[in-house]
Amino acid sequence: MRNNLNKSLLLSLLSLLLLAACATSPTGRTQLEFFPSNQMAQMGEAAYRQIKQETPASQDPAINRYVHCVAEAVTAVAPPPQSGDQWEVAVFKADQVNAFALPGGYIGIYTGLLSVAENADQLAAVIGHEIGHVIAQHGNARLSTQYATQAGLQLVQILTGTPSSATGQQLMALLGVGAQVGIVLPFSRAQESESDILGLRYMARACFDPRQSIQLWENMMQTGGPQPLEFLSTHPSDQSRIRHLEQSLPKALELYQQALDQGRRPKCKLEKKQ
Ligand SMILES: [Zn+2]
Repeated sequence: MRNNLNKSLLLSLLSLLLLAACATSPTGRTQLEFFPSNQMAQMGEAAYRQIKQETPASQDPAINRYVHCVAEAVTAVAPPPQSGDQWEVAVFKADQVNAFALPGGYIGIYTGLLSVAENADQLAAVIGHEIGHVIAQHGNARLSTQYATQAGLQLVQILTGTPSSATGQQLMALLGVGAQVGIVLPFSRAQESESDILGLRYMARACFDPRQSIQLWENMMQTGGPQPLEFLSTHPSDQSRIRHLEQSLPKALELYQQALDQGRRPKCKLEKKQ
């Protein structure tokens, strides 16, 4: 009898908790969000600091100017991250085709990406997509789903800020920087679609040509090698992504035209070395 009572008490507490943690994403999806935004921001910052420690920064002033120009234009029209209004941008000198954005407002671009994102519009498409994951709280949803099923020890470790190194790596992977730690947990198709829609919106408002997002994903899929691109391992892509992007283009082109009419086209150019 007592056991049953405890069990039902526990169940109703759990459902209350789940109810409280359900949130609506920017495109109207319902998802779990257990973690307060300041805690997500702390995790994002910790992951960002770790990657910065382990990866050399690009010292090329032209590349830095170019990436910052595009990133600042896109983040200027996007809502701020949940904690802090500023986005910090790092350019890493590494051949991998990769990029990330983290809760708290951190963006990382690898110089290898610039061989696939061939112009400022395509780079804006990557940055828009990445910050879309952060603004839609996909890291929070991934962590919450993971720990709603595992509960217990690991969640306590994270909430008390003392994750073991294995948990820390899993945490980074769930935040979307899996390629950096060797654990790859791809975003779901629904999360990818949502980030595509948000990314199109942001790039178009910043006056980058949204049609270039399609060329970007074509380039990603065509750039083959012995290993799949790091970027594609966390952001899996196929022709259905292209079809969905095409469906969302008319609305994005309207926003782009409005921005063009306002003369907002950013002058971000990568000056090639002589
Ligand atoms: Zn993605």
